[in-house]
Amino acid sequence: MNASLRFAALFFVAHCSVIFSTAAAAQSEPPAGWVTPHPPFKIIGPLYGVGMLDLSVFLITSEEGHILINTGLVDSTQHIKDNIEALGFDFQDIKILLTMQAHWDHTAAMAEIKALTGAEVWATPKDARILEDGGFSDPHFGGRQSFEPVTVDRRITQGDIITLGDLRIEVHEHPGHTEGSSSYTFSVREQGRDYVVGVINMGTINSGKRLVVEPTYENVASDFASTYNAQKKLPIDIWVSAHNGQYDMHSKYQTGQAYSPETFYDPAGYVRAIERLETAYLEVISDELDD
Ligand SMILES: [Zn+2]
Repeated sequence: MNASLRFAALFFVAHCSVIFSTAAAAQSEPPAGWVTPHPPFKIIGPLYGVGMLDLSVFLITSEEGHILINTGLVDSTQHIKDNIEALGFDFQDIKILLTMQAHWDHTAAMAEIKALTGAEVWATPKDARILEDGGFSDPHFGGRQSFEPVTVDRRITQGDIITLGDLRIEVHEHPGHTEGSSSYTFSVREQGRDYVVGVINMGTINSGKRLVVEPTYENVASDFASTYNAQKKLPIDIWVSAHNGQYDMHSKYQTGQAYSPETFYDPAGYVRAIERLETAYLEVISDELDD
């Protein structure tokens, strides 16, 4: 297989959700996985999935209110609300809204959910800029508004600890996919065992993005490299990502399956997924240098 074919194959295996995302940008029809409802499910401890079939929205609950990470497309609010209520929680108790990457498929309902709940939006400085201009200043997809702008109430950076009730959630800046991409980690004690849980933004490379030759933004290549290195060092036991397909959610969990803290236990799969992305990244760079 020549380099570009080999890359295409890798790209398809590792990034099928990214191909969908490119297709969605080109056509007006969103991929089915972005609009197909999915029932809520418990991941571990206070962490639940409340999103669509392939767009992950995460709820982290506490006695003092909840954190919601991501939204879906613009009309996803009702489904997210229904899922939260089906779990027995109150949508109005959402206090903090977080993102993993300021792309419209994860942020388009943020302004509406903020208005309905009064929650604060917290984001890294570079994703905050994009959230506040509705995607206009996105160096790859920008030049137009792709979602409703939302005011960011607090800038969060590497190593910050978000506290709410008994939650202590560490912020990780993992730039590359967007300039301000972020992940979140926390520990959970379940059934006598401690787990490190990661809500990890994967460093996928959207189609058409340039890394070293006329790069999409100045430090994009070093951002991706530092993200892969930092992510591989995290001692993750349980992981989830912005698209359910990225962490093989559908092979780990079937709807209705009884809860076990081990369902999403996958430290080796986590490292493999990052190594696959790193390989694809090196292929993109070598293809650019070959052209
Ligand atoms: Zn994205």
